[in-house]
Amino acid sequence: MSDEHQAATDPKAIDPAELADLTRAFPHLHLPIPIGTERKASEIAGIRYSVESVLSIGEPVHETITERALKNTGLLSAGETYSDQPAWDFTRGVFWNDDPEGLLFQSGAEALPLAISVAGGIQFLRAFKQAARLAKQPGTSFGTEDRLLVRSHFGDLQFLHAMASRDGEDPRQTLTWILEWAELVYAVATRPELAELPVCEVPLSQVRRWFPKEARTVAELFGVCGGGKVQQRALASLLHLVQDSYASGHTARHSGDGRVVEFHSYVHQDGGRHAQGDKLIDGCLEKTPAALQAVASCTAILQMYQRKDSWQNLMVLLRDQIFELTDYPNPSSAGAEFAAD
Ligand SMILES: [Zn+2]
Repeated sequence: MSDEHQAATDPKAIDPAELADLTRAFPHLHLPIPIGTERKASEIAGIRYSVESVLSIGEPVHETITERALKNTGLLSAGETYSDQPAWDFTRGVFWNDDPEGLLFQSGAEALPLAISVAGGIQFLRAFKQAARLAKQPGTSFGTEDRLLVRSHFGDLQFLHAMASRDGEDPRQTLTWILEWAELVYAVATRPELAELPVCEVPLSQVRRWFPKEARTVAELFGVCGGGKVQQRALASLLHLVQDSYASGHTARHSGDGRVVEFHSYVHQDGGRHAQGDKLIDGCLEKTPAALQAVASCTAILQMYQRKDSWQNLMVLLRDQIFELTDYPNPSSAGAEFAAD
C-alpha cells in the first residue's frame, strides 16, 4: 500500500463538516459515501477481512425502484434485493450516472462489484465539491475536455439526470440528448459485439460528439474491468435517467397527465430544495406516486430488453409516453420551487 493510499484511507482524512455540507448541498447523489475505515483486519479461518464504515447520502431511491422493476420482470426473484448477485450489474449501472468514473467501488478483479472503495469515495467527494464551486462562477461550462464526474453533474451530460445543461435550454434539445443516450445504451445492451469496441469508434454520431477521444472500450466506460455484464450496466444507466425524470427537482411534469412541462437546470437551484423532490415519502414506494410511475416506466423498458424489441419501438415509448412533452413546454430553469434565494 502506498503512503498516499494510506493517507487517503485515514478516517481523519475526511472532515465531518465537509461531509455534512455535501449531504445538504448535493443530495441528488443517492450514494453510499465511505467515511473512513475501521480496519478490523482479523484472521477468521485464514481469511482476512476488514470492515469499512459507510454513510449513505440521500436514500437508496434508485436501487429500490430498480429492484422493484427487476422483480416485476422476473429478472430478480421475490426474496432477492438489489445487493444480491443477480442484480449486481443493474445496481452498478444505476449508480453509473452519479459515479461514472466508478470511484466509489473497488475495481480489482477479485473485488465484489458492490465493494465500496474508501479512498475513491474521498476522491469523489473532493472532486465533486471542487466542481460545484467552479460551476457557480459565471461563464463556466464543462464539456468533452473535462472529467466524466464533472460533466455528468455540472456539464454537458446533465441529461443523464433528466436535467438541462444550462438555464434557457430548449426542452426539445434536452429530449434529443436523452433519446440519443438511450439509443447508445440500448445498442450496447442488445449488441454484445459493441462491448470491446473503443468508445470513439462506436458507429453512432452522438457518441463521437460526446467522446471524441475516448480510447477505452465501451465495457471499460461502464466500469467493467474484469467480470461484469456491460449490457445490464448500460441499460441501467437509462433506468437512472428515467427515474430522475420523476423527481420534481429534475423534471416538472403536468399534474394531470404526467407529460413533461420542463427539464430543470441545476446551476441556480438550492440543493436542499432539490433534495426534497428526490425523496421517497416515509422511505416507501407505495406512498410516493411518482416513484410508482418510475417503477412502471422502468418495468416497461426492461420488458422491451427481455423481448429484444427494436430500438425504434423503445424510442417511441420514450418519446411519446415516458418523456412526452406538453404542447408548449418551458425552456429550462431552476424551477420556482427549487430556485436558490
Ligand atoms: Zn441522477
